[in-house]
Amino acid sequence: SPTPQPKEGSQEKDVKPVEEKKVAGPIQIVQANEHNFELNATALEEVLLQKHVKDLNVVVVSVAGAFRKGKSFLLDFMLRYMHNRDKDSWIGGNDEPLTGFTWRGGCERETTGIQVWSEVFVVEKPDGNKVAVLLVDTQGAFDSQSTIKDSATVFALSTMTSSVQVYNLSSNIQEDDLQHLQLFTEYGRLAMEEVSEKPFQSLMFLIRDWCFPYEFCYGMKGGNEFLDKRLQVKHNQHEELQNVRNHIQHCFSNINCFLLPHPGLKVATNPKFDGRLRDIDEDFKKELAQLVPLLLAPSQLVEKEIGGSKVTCKDLLEYFKAYIKIYQG
Ligand code: GDP
Ligand code: MG
Repeated sequence: SPTPQPKEGSQEKDVKPVEEKKVAGPIQIVQANEHNFELNATALEEVLLQKHVKDLNVVVVSVAGAFRKGKSFLLDFMLRYMHNRDKDSWIGGNDEPLTGFTWRGGCERETTGIQVWSEVFVVEKPDGNKVAVLLVDTQGAFDSQSTIKDSATVFALSTMTSSVQVYNLSSNIQEDDLQHLQLFTEYGRLAMEEVSEKPFQSLMFLIRDWCFPYEFCYGMKGGNEFLDKRLQVKHNQHEELQNVRNHIQHCFSNINCFLLPHPGLKVATNPKFDGRLRDIDEDFKKELAQLVPLLLAPSQLVEKEIGGSKVTCKDLLEYFKAYIKIYQG
């Protein structure tokens, strides 16, 4: 198979757990500079070759989408879940500021690229197998042809390397959201030269600020009903619309959709908002409490597979190195 295989030899390094050396944080591992892609291999090694995780099968949960649509905010709640798994309530206190991927201070550079959380979480699944959970934040811009191409590359890379891709969208699924998805899965599929019909694992459309709960209720049930309707292929549809839908259905083994309500005006507009629960609308918190365990509960975790085999953290590093080369042309 032409699918890049992990190389031997470069895998014997042990890296001390990140926590021993520095506080956990987001790490930029892929960056687009002037349309050139770079992998920060050293940083990724420090994360994936930590002794306690490098040989475990990896579960990669990625959140992808345009800037300023609440991805980091969601990821910060995912981190809370991972940190408080043993407690009765993971969601946090009413006046606890949210920390994690979100960078507060006002001068965040909008970099098209991929970040991972430096802490890799070890979780025991109900079947007794221990897995390593990696959280990934992926960002792209969609405002010009060149940035769409960069974003397609970044999203292709993150889809190729994740077991669950959360496609974060604002208010609805527009036709161009589907076209972008087609473009970036096509980038990935061609690069992998996969023979299997379904090159990617799970995709979850996450619609933020959903305004039609009386048509389709919040959560995954309403979301999947909405998605079925949106992805339906009809005979009287334009061929292009049919193709987009068929392509997406064929790329993923599992597709879901979750509808999230608007989090409230403080979250959306108050510059002093620091993520505390007190300032977030009840409906949003209720749905968030459903969404995060759907993605991260031990019984929900799906190990990353490439070419039909599960991959370890160590393998994943080599796949990243191989895949980035494809896009460095
Ligand atoms: P990212 O660029 O996609 O990572 O977005 P951030 O997580 O940094 O959030 C951007 C802004 O959107 C912040 O001011 C958040 O408080 C706000 N925000 C977070 N979640 C939501 C949401 O579901 N809806 C709306 N309208 N705003 C949100
Ligand atoms: Mg962000």
